[in-house]
Amino acid sequence: DIGIAAESDWEEIGPPILPALSPDGHKFDRGLVHALAGAMPGAIALAASAAARAGAGYVRVSTSKTIDHLPASVVQTDTATLNDPRIGCLLVGPGMGSIPQLLTLALTSHAPKVIDADAIGQVGEPERLKGQDAILTPHAGEFAKLFGFLPGSKADQAVAAAGRSGAIVVYKGSDTIVAAPDGRIAFAPPTPAWLASAGTGDVLAGIIAAMRARGMAAFEAACAGVWIHGRAAEAAGASMIADDLLVALPTVLSEL
Ligand code: AMP
Ligand code: MG
Repeated sequence: DIGIAAESDWEEIGPPILPALSPDGHKFDRGLVHALAGAMPGAIALAASAAARAGAGYVRVSTSKTIDHLPASVVQTDTATLNDPRIGCLLVGPGMGSIPQLLTLALTSHAPKVIDADAIGQVGEPERLKGQDAILTPHAGEFAKLFGFLPGSKADQAVAAAGRSGAIVVYKGSDTIVAAPDGRIAFAPPTPAWLASAGTGDVLAGIIAAMRARGMAAFEAACAGVWIHGRAAEAAGASMIADDLLVALPTVLSEL
């Protein structure tokens, strides 16, 4: 029952309409992102920082040891309180390494989640994500690990992957595509090629998690994240590094 995406139905992702901040809202009204840190602290630092700078009111990282390079405003905790009903989005994968328990732990939570990087390959069977309210952000290698070989265009594959997993699939690359299980599909506007550098995917995962925690629906949050990420890359300029995207985020969000 997975339709082949007709190109005429495609929509290019435009500037998102972000949830309004109520003037008297407090930090938890603005979204709690909870990230699970793994083996590589740099990646989780980028993702958590991105979530904070993309407007999540509160960002928390579960980690067994102190992570350097996190903004002081990001809370580090050695307990994984994933049953906290305030969690607006759980983020797992950036910097995870091969610690499969982290994904298993994340999947016990009812919170919406962004599953990125090594966590994608750890899913095993896509059907395991049914009912999970998940957004997957694979690059081509991670996509193949979870979904194997799928026929057709990149758009066809993204739609099929979303159908099989029940998740929103952000199939990344120079031509990022966002697909939903109901067949919705959108493609990213042209993105500077200098975005292809270490850590930029971690930043994207953090931005999407912030959008989800701020209350956007999953497909819209994924599209918003992709747009903001690309715009931040333009703003940061050639030879930017992933860290520079973080600096650009407040300016990009001010324009929205
Ligand atoms: P990752 O593979 O997880 O490090 O993520 C890399 C990020 O850079 C994703 O947002 C990709 O969509 C983006 N990206 C990768 N290659 C290109 C490219 N050639 N041009 C523009 N963006 C790219
Ligand atoms: Mg990545």
